[in-house]
Amino acid sequence: MNNVRPSCERIAPLVPYDPKYLPAEAYLSANENPQDVPEEVRREINRRLKAMSFNRYPDPLANGLRDRIAEANGLERECVLLGNGGDELLFNIALAWGGPGRTFLNLPPTFSVYEQNARLTGTEIVNIPRRDDYSIDEEAVLARVAEGGIDYLIVASPNNPTGKLASEEFLLALLDATDALVMVDEAYFEFSRMTMRPYLARHKNLVILRTFSKAFSLAGVRLGYILGDPAIVTEFIKVRQPYSVDAVSQIIAETVYENRASFERGIVSIIEERARLIEQLRKLPEVKAYPSDANYILFRAEGAGEVWRALYDRGILVRDFSAAEHLADCLRVTVGSPEENERFLTALKEVLIERRKA
Ligand code: PMP
Repeated sequence: MNNVRPSCERIAPLVPYDPKYLPAEAYLSANENPQDVPEEVRREINRRLKAMSFNRYPDPLANGLRDRIAEANGLERECVLLGNGGDELLFNIALAWGGPGRTFLNLPPTFSVYEQNARLTGTEIVNIPRRDDYSIDEEAVLARVAEGGIDYLIVASPNNPTGKLASEEFLLALLDATDALVMVDEAYFEFSRMTMRPYLARHKNLVILRTFSKAFSLAGVRLGYILGDPAIVTEFIKVRQPYSVDAVSQIIAETVYENRASFERGIVSIIEERARLIEQLRKLPEVKAYPSDANYILFRAEGAGEVWRALYDRGILVRDFSAAEHLADCLRVTVGSPEENERFLTALKEVLIERRKA
């Protein structure tokens, strides 16, 4: 046969997720940690990897890692599930709580993968856009869930790409107002230091998402996890790929998690650099910098697409959101090392001065 049937109708119009990761000298586009895993932790990882059996299947549920995360969070093993990056768990929530005839409530602009997964699974999407300052339209969300019919919603807190936490009062009101599954995506929790974890015991419909990709420097390894009621975790287990978290990743993440205190200094440095970057950005009259509780800053500048290009020509890769809905003229810069941040600021100032002359 020199012909093939088209793919499923709802897949054909989808555009694959593209992180727009291009070669650069300063990578400030993907909210990664500028520091790699510390040398002494890498040595321990290498030692453990040498003893690993490559010919054996991994523990399907990564119970060693599960137990460590559960203990650190004062929970039972059954309340934790690992995934191949937070991304896998975001797919799993759409598989388990979405699907044809089901509805997902989205708060754009937010992490685009949520909407993509809803489309992929044939889930209806109800959008409640954020206000002009990107705060959640809390009254509209509470009013909509009160109408009923929402099966799940995801609130990124801090929100990507806009940067701010959702308010705890709002999240608690939301959890009380609906029996939908409410995922609070805390991918950037280590930089905001705010978590809904204390409320897990009281709210059966709360599930928290975390990742090793940001604060723990493991974006290349692909590990995320959820914290939630065992009944929720069971539904996620039903839809997951049995061996999605491979043995190498399990060993690396266990070692990193045991040594997580050694990442603390780097996290503090990112939080300090974030404040410095925002302060410097706010001195530039052409730039509007939004507040941030995460390791990135959203900023608006006229002609953002050209500004992005001029920064890239100077070796600096930031993320261009200017073509995205609700994000006209917006770029997002990841808080990097002090040197990278300085380089970014110097380049941005140069670019803006050139544009003033033009
Ligand atoms: N949630 C949010 C809000 C994110 O920004 C990201 C990464 N960009 C993720 C989840 C998923 O991260 P990962 O798959 O690397 O764990």
